[in-house]
Amino acid sequence: MKKVRTRFAPSPTGYMHIGNLRTALFEYLIAKHEDGDFILRIEDTDQERLVEGAVDIIYDTMKAVGLNHDEGPDIGGDFGPYVQSERLSMYKGYADQLVELGGAHYCFCSEEEIEAQRKEAESLGISFKYDDPCKHISIEEARKRIADGEKYVVRQTIKANGETYFDDEVYGRIEVDNATLDESVLLKSDGFPTYNFANIIDDHQMQISHVVRGNEYLSSTPKYNLIYQAYGWDIPTYVHVPPVMKDEQHKLSKRNGDASFQDLVKKGYLPEAILNYIALLGWAPESEQEIYSLEELIKVFDIKRISKSPAIFDIDKLTWMNGMY
Ligand code: GLU
Repeated sequence: MKKVRTRFAPSPTGYMHIGNLRTALFEYLIAKHEDGDFILRIEDTDQERLVEGAVDIIYDTMKAVGLNHDEGPDIGGDFGPYVQSERLSMYKGYADQLVELGGAHYCFCSEEEIEAQRKEAESLGISFKYDDPCKHISIEEARKRIADGEKYVVRQTIKANGETYFDDEVYGRIEVDNATLDESVLLKSDGFPTYNFANIIDDHQMQISHVVRGNEYLSSTPKYNLIYQAYGWDIPTYVHVPPVMKDEQHKLSKRNGDASFQDLVKKGYLPEAILNYIALLGWAPESEQEIYSLEELIKVFDIKRISKSPAIFDIDKLTWMNGMY
């Protein structure tokens, strides 16, 4: 059997709320339950959305709760997290390879051309999906234009016929009609990969066996799988988890600083109590036991008992739990 390897892959776009930390905890527990490896990877390729100090917050939080990663680049005697912006040159090679394999194409369209299509779709009241004329340019012709200095992006190519499906550990079978999938940009004109692309390349390179992440990614996952298939790579096991909510209607938001781990610690909540509390948000053990150490959680954690329904953050419950420590 393949070694279980999971990764927590946050984008440093704000504070770390307890929903983000819960994803990290589930990843950690899934790996450690099987004696596997846990990796921390900072996904910072969207430079416009970066928030200063967010990487340190992620790093400090993981240390404070003892979710230590097992490998990474050497940072003077210790290993740091993998950081995507330090791996940029690699993604371009993979993008060129994907074009050769037919899973992507070079696109020379200007923003104006794309915008014109979007406006037309709007005026007709139909949903917008870019129909890229560059799909029909041969690779040789495209390479010539690139060599001549023309600006381009690499865009995913999706054959409109057929269906793509996968089996999620929490949500079961997810099936989509390929015709509904849009062809996203994978490599931008500045050479930076988009989140979608860097995430796939890294998961493959780091031999991730279980991808655990928020259920907002369920609908994009078929698109990612088409990329895995184009390369001929094994698709990981997917574990999409429901969100942690602020109330019935609103998800916790990193940008607003909701239920931030750092704030809770400042208010006197103990990191162990917070970890114990979030383990039970959207996951139910077999027994009635409520107080768990990290070691106990590793022993009893079972993917099959993750719930599909959103969990609501309840400060009174956390306060009660904190009092038990
Ligand atoms: N970087 C993504 C985020 O912070 C994570 C996606 C994933 O885990 O695949 O939402």
